[in-house]
Amino acid sequence: MFLARRAAHSLGRAQLARGLSSRASAILSSLDISTTEEIPGVYDGQWRGSGDIFSSVCPTTGETLAHVRTATPQELHDAIGRAREAYTVFRHVPAPRRGEILRQIREALAAKRDELGSLVSLEMGKIKTEGRGEVQEFIDICDYAVGLSRMMNGNVVASERPGHSILEVPNPLGVVAVLSAFNFPVAVYGWNLALSLAAGNATIWKPSPSTPLCSIAVARIVARVLESNGIPGAVAGLVTGGKEAGAAIAESRDIELVSFTGSEHVGRIVGKNVMSRFGKTILELGGNNASIVMPDADLSLAVPAVFFGAVGTAGQRCTSTRRLYLHSDIASEFLGRLTKLYSTVQPADPLVDGTLLGPLHSSAALKMYSNTIDHLRSIGAEILTGGNRYTDAPLDAGNFVQPTISIPKSVDPKAPIWSTETFAPILNVATFDHLEEAIAWNNAVPQGLSSSLWTRDIRNVGKWIGPGGSDTGIVNVNVGTSGAEIGAAFGGNKSTGWGRESGGDAWKQYVRWSACTINFSDCAPLAQGVNFTA
Ligand code: NAD
Repeated sequence: MFLARRAAHSLGRAQLARGLSSRASAILSSLDISTTEEIPGVYDGQWRGSGDIFSSVCPTTGETLAHVRTATPQELHDAIGRAREAYTVFRHVPAPRRGEILRQIREALAAKRDELGSLVSLEMGKIKTEGRGEVQEFIDICDYAVGLSRMMNGNVVASERPGHSILEVPNPLGVVAVLSAFNFPVAVYGWNLALSLAAGNATIWKPSPSTPLCSIAVARIVARVLESNGIPGAVAGLVTGGKEAGAAIAESRDIELVSFTGSEHVGRIVGKNVMSRFGKTILELGGNNASIVMPDADLSLAVPAVFFGAVGTAGQRCTSTRRLYLHSDIASEFLGRLTKLYSTVQPADPLVDGTLLGPLHSSAALKMYSNTIDHLRSIGAEILTGGNRYTDAPLDAGNFVQPTISIPKSVDPKAPIWSTETFAPILNVATFDHLEEAIAWNNAVPQGLSSSLWTRDIRNVGKWIGPGGSDTGIVNVNVGTSGAEIGAAFGGNKSTGWGRESGGDAWKQYVRWSACTINFSDCAPLAQGVNFTA
């Protein structure tokens, strides 16, 4: 890894400028990202960075987009220190004033919605409408947090003692670190920043090492708003870097809350490390989401929804549909319609309007896809469609793979093919005869993020959302597994980490709660009638 970073460095300025396509340079220029110079990847009130150089590589063309200077361990340490200092100032800014700053951030993001959305497509590889949608999600959560800034209410609790009142008081928490994944390089930070800022915290962001440009572009927009309001920039700091930086953040006692989005494997490490110092975590980890289709379902809705769930974002959403359980009465018709839709998919540049299938994000993802296909073949699964890379030019320069539908021989949900998240467009299918069987399969895997039932029978809905129903954090009916709105709390159960972000009551995790008992009387009785008179 280190060698790769140095090798990127030795490419030098001239080669970077010469190699860049007009497609890429137009987007980078629209966001003032240099196409010739190394880019500082640390912001703590000042832009800096003198650590390793990370390259941002376009997953569509393989071209190097930019070289980013990450944080040295000392710079990371200093950035955390500046975030703490900024917190001590920002916690005294009244919440509605914090909301006004969020409103300005919202406006600044909206002014660059198309440019930022295109950058997401360029650097992450998702299609343009989804890249733009991700920025929209940040804008939406800012709107939500502006309102929240006037509604982060505590409680007044009845006291059993005369002349006493008990208040449950929310105060700013401290420093919130956001460790984020490659597949939502803008929105996940947005969910966290908006709530954290409304709550009066300083936030420090360590994005995925392979999407540094998205994070730099967003951090610059936010920083400009903070600075123009006289707020220390370190209220919204940025530290680009790799797993060492993430690990140092997880271990830092100067960070109250670590909001981690990523794989189950890394989430397990981060969770343990933060817990070992009794810090707080929000864990948003892998999903292994199932759709269940009943015989009474409206297939004209269900088929396109499963298609989007499994193929959209090239299968790289935490909520992507990975398992499909079809009632045996409709299985054959459903698969006929679904494979027909799959046959219409044309992989192409995600920046071109109308493209539905972009590349996988990285060569590591390609390898994961190939390994899983090899495994499916080795266990005798029927590959209905897909199963290969696109190897013709110009797609061979990028990480393009065929969306795949497979029917494994075993329906045992504990078998690795059913119980593991493969972050690629591979959909495994099984048939069932009774809803209870499908719900049991849905619930038998370690992950618990999203699930969806397709039916028009209200009795099935009752079973699905009730105590014996789906055990995931997102339980949909006649809505696919993939994607969510910001209004409800978002997150998954079990090995998805139990975290909740975005709407609902998620904000309550970003504050420090105190129970304050106040005695307005002339006596000082003890609770529960305890007598301790000398
Ligand atoms: P990843 O786990 O490889 O990396 C996530 C982040 O952790 C990165 O910033 C990485 O640099 C950092 N990191 C790596 N090792 C670390 C360590 N030892 N200590 C601290 N930080 C460390 O995940 P990824 O490949 O970028 O993203 C894909 C995964 O994210 C999938 O599993 C997907 O399901 C999951 N995801 C979940 C949600 C959700 O809301 N549940 C949302 C998006 C993505």
